[in-house]
Amino acid sequence: MISKAGNALNGHLDHRNPLVFDTRELGRRPGALKRLTRSVDAPGSPVLGIDGVIGVPEGAPLELDLRLESVMEGVLVTGTARASAEGECVRCLEPLTVEVDADFQEMFSYPDADDRGRSSAADPADDAEDDEDRFFLEDGLFDLESVLRDAVVLALPMQPVCKETCAGLCSECGIRLDENPGHHHDAVDIRWAALQGLAETVQDGEKDNMGGAEPGVDEKQEK
Ligand SMILES: [Zn+2]
Ligand SMILES: [Zn+2]
Repeated sequence: MISKAGNALNGHLDHRNPLVFDTRELGRRPGALKRLTRSVDAPGSPVLGIDGVIGVPEGAPLELDLRLESVMEGVLVTGTARASAEGECVRCLEPLTVEVDADFQEMFSYPDADDRGRSSAADPADDAEDDEDRFFLEDGLFDLESVLRDAVVLALPMQPVCKETCAGLCSECGIRLDENPGHHHDAVDIRWAALQGLAETVQDGEKDNMGGAEPGVDEKQEK
């Protein structure tokens, strides 16, 4: 049997879970429709979104708009989830907010729905794999969490930026370039740089000769 995130351990859905919906009012007459909206607190652990990149904070308001349609084999659920996701710009690391508008559609089959239309010659192993991806109604209830999570991930940017033109950080000193227009470091002529490097090496060598024993050695000897 399937075991989807959000299902209670005993395998029964909890109708008090805000992401569990009841389809019993709909009846089983194909074509019957029901629309509903629900405002819920975004689930956490893991965050709704792309963990470590951008997501809807746990407990943040999440608006769900659902259309339930009774079809032969179950209930076809079409919907939209709206929320604000928080993350940071991948270029300049400034916090940012993205309005999520995630669409989804999923079939929740009756547990007794047979496999008409599926090849009866199919390998049992294939069947088991297919079942992993199928969603079922349990006593007329379904759990939207898994579908919602996938839809929100797809609706979010993998590489969020504060704005398309964000110039990011200076690769040399790390300051935010958008806040420091014209920022640059004077390019040093490579021949001068080589000479400077040589001069520093000579100075370091003189210091070492004059300084005597290295401090690190003294410390070790004291213990
Ligand atoms: Zn940025
Ligand atoms: Zn810089």
